[in-house]
Order: sequence, then structure tokens, then C-alpha cells
Amino acid sequence: MNTALPDYEVYAIRYATREGQRRDHFIGGDPHDGPMAMDYYSWLVIGPDRRFVIDCGFTPEVAIQRKRVHLRNPVDALRHFDIRPEDVEDVILTHLHYDHVGNFAQFPKARFHLQEPELAFATSKYMRHPFVAHPFEVEDVVGVVRLNYGGRVVFHNGDEELAPGLRLHFAGGHSAGLQFVSVHTKRGWVVLASDVTHYYENMESGRPFTTTFHVGDTLEGYDKLRRIAPTPDHIVPGHDPLVMKLYPAPRPELEGIAVRLDVPPKPRSSV
Ligand SMILES: [Zn+2]
Repeated sequence: MNTALPDYEVYAIRYATREGQRRDHFIGGDPHDGPMAMDYYSWLVIGPDRRFVIDCGFTPEVAIQRKRVHLRNPVDALRHFDIRPEDVEDVILTHLHYDHVGNFAQFPKARFHLQEPELAFATSKYMRHPFVAHPFEVEDVVGVVRLNYGGRVVFHNGDEELAPGLRLHFAGGHSAGLQFVSVHTKRGWVVLASDVTHYYENMESGRPFTTTFHVGDTLEGYDKLRRIAPTPDHIVPGHDPLVMKLYPAPRPELEGIAVRLDVPPKPRSSV
């Protein structure tokens, strides 16, 4: 019996961006304030037998409403990888914030993998507080409730192996049911942190991003990323523009659109 784990290809697709200030991205602000942009990604994992889409971005309508620069529909961008959304069977939702779930309706056949506490949180008493509800779009949450009534949400609790070489990890913190994903590749286990750490700097300096439900769980989440990843270079933050600089485009025509994460990054000092 062959027990070797498959080596997956892993890609980040950049679909939106916004200008920002450093003080916007750390609880308590930042002593060295200055510009700090934010990028928005979804991720694609391709194995020999199965493929997984991780998070699916927001719609152009929500981009206007929230004043984000929408560069492309991340679901349409799957065509660069010869993937038709109607053929996708598994979508992993790291959490239900607007920038991770907005295009769910474009996957007519998919099962959606979610940590059970995330949907409970998104429909909880806390949502009457605008501070907590702000990163959610109520229509997205209602849409996921409808998907569940249709039998299309797969609930996970804690850390689980979804497929050989692909694992889900509960983190919480930024959102009560946040999860991240580790993927076996030819360079070892790549850890797709999603919003467990928005930027490399949140994790490295131990200063959580401003949108945080539970500060303690967020800090524990940084430690969990480091426990799961073989080296810090295997951790890919959820919103850092550095990701586009450190990793190569899979093909020249995808420059600025997608990068390949299953190859080692350039040294941080070189970018
Ligand atoms: Zn996010």
C-alpha cells in the first residue's frame, strides 16, 4: 500500500486591494504610523485527485459599498487553472467574514467546509452589536444558512484531516470559528493562515489585527500556526501584499494575479 502523502500545488489568487495606514492594522495603533496596503486573496489547492478552493472573496457590489478596489472575481480567475466553478466539489470557508464567503453562490455543486462555531457565532446574540457584525454581510450569513438547509455545509469541530495531505485547524480569535489549512506540498506542509494572521507582522510582533473577537485566542492562534508549520517560511498570512512579492507567479501572464505557494519564498530581505 502506498502511504505517501500527495504533493499538492497551492496558489494564492489576489482579487482586491485597498490603501490603509499601519494604525488601522494593529490593536492600539502603531508607533511608526505610515501607509500599509491590504490585499485580498482566495487560495486554490490542486492535488492528483482532488482540488479545493479556500475562500471565495467578495462581490463587486460589496466592494463599492465597502470602498475596496475589486481587481477581479476570484471565482472567474479559476479559469486560469482550467477549473470551472460548476465542477468544484469542495470549498473550504476559513470563516464567514464578507471578504471570504461573498461569491459562494457561484459554486452550484460544492460542499462548504466550515467550523461549526463559526455559523453559531454569525447568528449569535453578538451580531446586534455593529462592532462585531461589521465584517459580516447578513445576506452571506443567510445564504450559508440556506446552504445548510440544502445539506451543503459540512461542519467540522477542531482539527480534522479533510483529505490525505490536507488538514483543517481551528483557531478562533479574529472570528469565533476561524480555521486555517495546512497542505502537504513538495516543500513540506504549507500553512495557509487566512486571517489567523492578516500580515506577517501581526504574528511576528504579537500584535493582533484591529478586527478581533478574542485577543487571547488570536495570540494562541499565532503559536498554533508556528506549531503546525515546519518553519516560519511555510506560513502564508491572509492579507499581506508581501505574499505577492515573495512568491513567483505560476506563469508570466499571471503576474500580479496569482502566486505559487508550494515553492519556497524569496528571502524577506530581498524584497
Ligand atoms: Zn479577511
